[in-house]
Amino acid sequence: MSSWKEKCCLVWRRLARRKALSEVRGTRHERHEAEFEVRMKTFKEFDNERLHSSLGHRTSRLDKKWRNNKVAKRRPVIAGNWKMFKTVSEAEDYAVRFLEEVKDVTELDIILCAPFTALYPLKNELEESVVHLGAQNMSWADQGAYTGEISAQMLLDVACTYVILGHSERREFYGETDQEIAKKVQKALAAGLTPIFCVGENLNVREEGKAAERVQAQVSLALSSLSIEELSRIVIAYEPIWAIGTGKTASSNDAQEMCAAIRNTLTGLMGLDAEKVPILYGGSVKAENIVELLNEPDVDGALVGGASLDPLGFAKLVHNAAAVVARAEGI
Ligand code: PEP
Repeated sequence: MSSWKEKCCLVWRRLARRKALSEVRGTRHERHEAEFEVRMKTFKEFDNERLHSSLGHRTSRLDKKWRNNKVAKRRPVIAGNWKMFKTVSEAEDYAVRFLEEVKDVTELDIILCAPFTALYPLKNELEESVVHLGAQNMSWADQGAYTGEISAQMLLDVACTYVILGHSERREFYGETDQEIAKKVQKALAAGLTPIFCVGENLNVREEGKAAERVQAQVSLALSSLSIEELSRIVIAYEPIWAIGTGKTASSNDAQEMCAAIRNTLTGLMGLDAEKVPILYGGSVKAENIVELLNEPDVDGALVGGASLDPLGFAKLVHNAAAVVARAEGI
């Protein structure tokens, strides 16, 4: 993986190339020229800040300051993805036991992304609690003849505030494309839902050394038509496919590098506001490894599959994460 300086230069060059291309074609870039200039300027400031940290100035005191900064800028998120598990009664039972354990956790946002059939009962169980409700997929259409699909309005109706979009299992088993996912992200934002937008590379791509390139392309393809205001309402989850459900976790260094690469791409799209977007890591996260992951400057939480299925185990993971946040805040 290249150094911060190289990464910053790469984003800088991309921005310049985009601008040059739009000039050659005699077209304006879809965003206004003025907005483009603001992005270039804010990116430069960001570049300086990150370069400073990559040039060996990171003492442990600075590390601590960095973490405090991170928590001040972005509220950490721990989201459980139940996938295709749990009937209505299992979901209700889970909610009661989980809430009992996490009812006083205020340091971070806790989300349960449940199957569609469990959303309505969970709405009742989780009402006025600290736990937010999320779905695992959604249609890009408003309503109509789309057998088997579910709309943003239907999710809002059962008090969902989040929706996972572009999960690798949807991409792999149901052939979802970057273009479809882009449409879903736009629809979710328009409806007022927060997308948890997933990106990640497979093992081949990682072994070819192209992981950052792939993930950055996924981010650009799905998000480059969004306004800065829209971009500031999303959560991104970096989930290396080879780590999902396999028991293999990316090292915290790898997770950091990839989340930072994603933030670089976001900076190209939205300038310094990219510092406010939560970027989660997902892939065999457990109560035992969440602390190390969360201590990384660009990892703002986790999307958790298998380890979210047991209410007590997931509550432990949430408490471990909350302890990191509390330490960073000096509580
Ligand atoms: C996921 O489902 O998004 C996931 C990361 O799964 P697991 O934690 O089981 O690897």
